[in-house]
Amino acid sequence: MSAKYIFVTGGVVSSLGKGLAAASIGCLLESRGLKVNLMKFDPYLNVDPGTMSPFQHGEVFVTDDGAETDLDLGHYERFTHAKLSRDNNWTTGRIYEQIIAKERRGDYLGKTVQVIPHVTNEIKAAMKKVAQDVDIAIVEIGGTVGDIESLPFIEAIRQMRQELGREHTLFVHVTLVPFIAAAQELKTKPTQHSVKELLSVGIQPDILLCRTDRFLAKDIKSKIALFCNVEEEAVITAKDVASIYEVPLVFSREGVDTLVFKYLRLEARDRDLKDWEEIVRRVYNPKAEITIGIVGKYVEYEDSYKSLKEALVHGALAHNLKLNANWVEAEGLETGDQSYEAQLEDYDGLLVPGGFGKRGIAGMLNAIRYAREKKVPYFGICLGMQAACIEFARNVCGLAEANSSEFDPATPHRVIYKLRELRGVEELGGTMRLGAWTCKIEPGTLAHRIYGKLEISERHRHRYEFNREYEEMLTAAGMRISGSTPDGTYVEIVELSDHPHFIACQFHPEFKSKPLEPHPLFRTFVGASYEHGIERRARREAAEVEMFHRPERVGRR
Ligand code: GLN
Repeated sequence: MSAKYIFVTGGVVSSLGKGLAAASIGCLLESRGLKVNLMKFDPYLNVDPGTMSPFQHGEVFVTDDGAETDLDLGHYERFTHAKLSRDNNWTTGRIYEQIIAKERRGDYLGKTVQVIPHVTNEIKAAMKKVAQDVDIAIVEIGGTVGDIESLPFIEAIRQMRQELGREHTLFVHVTLVPFIAAAQELKTKPTQHSVKELLSVGIQPDILLCRTDRFLAKDIKSKIALFCNVEEEAVITAKDVASIYEVPLVFSREGVDTLVFKYLRLEARDRDLKDWEEIVRRVYNPKAEITIGIVGKYVEYEDSYKSLKEALVHGALAHNLKLNANWVEAEGLETGDQSYEAQLEDYDGLLVPGGFGKRGIAGMLNAIRYAREKKVPYFGICLGMQAACIEFARNVCGLAEANSSEFDPATPHRVIYKLRELRGVEELGGTMRLGAWTCKIEPGTLAHRIYGKLEISERHRHRYEFNREYEEMLTAAGMRISGSTPDGTYVEIVELSDHPHFIACQFHPEFKSKPLEPHPLFRTFVGASYEHGIERRARREAAEVEMFHRPERVGRR
């Protein structure tokens, strides 16, 4: 059977959660035994988001094959079993790059190269590629309907309907139904306009996912159905929820999967969402809370560490805990004296995530020193591992000028330096060490206990590495290299033996964590932080009791 397609577009405003909607539909269809794949088209001209600031675009999600992709692919992987690669994310820039390369080679045999059919054909070919070997391909079109940039993609999906027919294609439009406080009313006009906009480019949506903060009553649904020419049952209340992992359940209650089966003429199968129900049950019934401090520099922008935050949530859910992830602005810890410590006292665990550039490094080093000395669980990721090595070299091994050549090219102690294979490479796009690499773990280490195996594969995105010339000095002082590439070239994991939980890795484990399969590094970090929190509070209480009973205090009373 050839695959059927679900096209997801968005209207009215951006940030309505199209990616989550696509991922949740994927999850629901999997729960009914279908095999799905998901892809996203981004209408901007960058070839990939790898060169964009996290403030502009949010996190760059890395796939096994080393593609730097849109963060929505993270949602796709967390919600489904789809195996994603560079084929699953295309930008206008990459489509054009491909076409221009063909044109230069003379592949178009003298023809004029045009948006229709050449660009649209390229887009359709990309869709068909991910649809091989699956029942349903879910295709998300980035941006908002009406944008000039997204027109070729919209035209391509219009052509797909024309080619494949109604039973093989489905248009899902994510829109907004705002509640206007002054009028105490839900407003359907933005949705009507957005559907008109779609109609003007030849697309009649089949299902409307209406983002709203309250349930849509029957009369509102019928009004939208009438004006937008969809069936009333296809007007879906996509209500705001406390946890993104509830979205598949909300969609299933609203019958989204049943509609997909009906419109695409699929044979109904039983739905099994037990695991997701359990996740949501835990979200609403935590046994306790933990507070993790994430020390970084892109902290003010919610999307810049999307996968990291989700991976911490997965770790917390594994212990039935509620996670409070507090972002600590690294530069705020650069106080010159010990006063920054007060900012770190209330955390059960500290984490330094990936990052680029020099800003905030001194603050991160302070946070790591604090975690190391006060025995607070520490988890370093990528930059967080490099910084842990620098901190150790400076404060334990006495190399006050230890640094990464990324932050100080002239440092006499390049504990972290540019990847051997990248020396002389100055171009920024796609030139890091990217994607999945095998790592061998040393037996008997914390890493071994955490993973329970000696060989792992994790995803990377970095340009600098640990300099093995400093290995002897650092390990003699108590740092342990517990993971390396099989040929021994790259250091992948370091840890401290005389610490309850201090581990840092060069790769990004957050990209492989899922709610139903929490990553062991996050699960154990959260577990250790929870234990530490209990001890920390017990110590504080004991100290308070002691203070209370001190004779001088009694005397003062
Ligand atoms: N800036 C560091 C490097 O390029 C760390 C990268 C990261 O944390 N992703 O190696």
